[in-house]
Amino acid sequence: MLRSVILAAARSDRVERLVGTAPVSRDVVRRYVAGAALDDALKTSRELVSSGLAVSLDYLGEDTTSPEQAATTKQAYLDLLGALSAEGLCPPVEVSIKLSALGQLFDEKLAYRYAREICQAATNAGTTVTVDMEDHTTTDSTLELLMQLRKDFPDTGAVLQAYLRRTEADCRELAGAGSRVRLCKGAYDEPESVAFQAKLDVDRSYVRCLNILMAGEGRPMVATHDPRMVAIAEDRAKWFDRSPDSFEFQMLYGIRPDEQRRLIADGYTMRVYLPYGVQWYGYLMRRLAERPANLAFFLRSLGSR
Ligand code: FAD
Repeated sequence: MLRSVILAAARSDRVERLVGTAPVSRDVVRRYVAGAALDDALKTSRELVSSGLAVSLDYLGEDTTSPEQAATTKQAYLDLLGALSAEGLCPPVEVSIKLSALGQLFDEKLAYRYAREICQAATNAGTTVTVDMEDHTTTDSTLELLMQLRKDFPDTGAVLQAYLRRTEADCRELAGAGSRVRLCKGAYDEPESVAFQAKLDVDRSYVRCLNILMAGEGRPMVATHDPRMVAIAEDRAKWFDRSPDSFEFQMLYGIRPDEQRRLIADGYTMRVYLPYGVQWYGYLMRRLAERPANLAFFLRSLGSR
């Protein structure tokens, strides 16, 4: 219930204006976001890389409604990739993109064209792009555009959400050689007709999907903070005789940093999803919905600096 309320607020312009203009403590946002500027993204990336982590950088923004905004987002990624390359950070730093931030909701062709430009810049820089997955109304379009991108940029990563009933079948489609698939539980408020609602059902689906990806020939990217899912992934990797460099764990910046360090110490690749930019509102609200206990921390910070 609380999760649905927070996710509804995540989509509300009115609440965004209210929260966005409140003097929210920098610490709350900084817990999950590198900062507003490109330099913040570079600085935090350098720190994470020097502690042994891989990174996927996300320029914050979604549900873009104007071609100008989409062009600005595309240019931000081109600037980012140029700077990462100049600093010798590619790899282990890659980028994650949201097609809705590139215009998918009003012009799919434009979003595809911009995504291609970003993939080309990533290839030139020596790194990869992963295409985030958004709410279920965009899944078909996103997978379709991803397949197009993979014709010329075969290492473009997909994201599949275990809460969707369709995802087991999508995992089978995408488990082939050369494919990179990030498996997450899913962060949006989805109807029962398309998504499992109970945590237990989502977790069971996650394990079924993980089995398919681990048994396949692609590179599974196990994106979860759930200790049980992490343990099951470690177990399945052994069962399917996977070397630690044939798959990776992924977590969000600011969540379970001790466990991130533990996984590196045990010889795994651990990639941190690191957002930056001024449009932190939707991202932060989804993180609060995942853990309503964080809401008290957030509300206390309203009004404090
Ligand atoms: P949960 O069952 O939600 O949590 C398990 C445990 O993890 C909790 O008990 C708690 O200890 C800890 N935890 C979880 N969330 C938090 C938090 N916010 N703060 C503190 N502790 C927490 N979703 C999409 O829909 N599309 C995407 O493209 C996408 N990309 C992602 C990329 C990465 C690298 C990751 C890690 C997640 C991504 N997600 C994405 C979000 C994902 O779908 C989940 O909403 C999120 O990861 C929480 O699920 P969980 O697997 O951690 O398990």
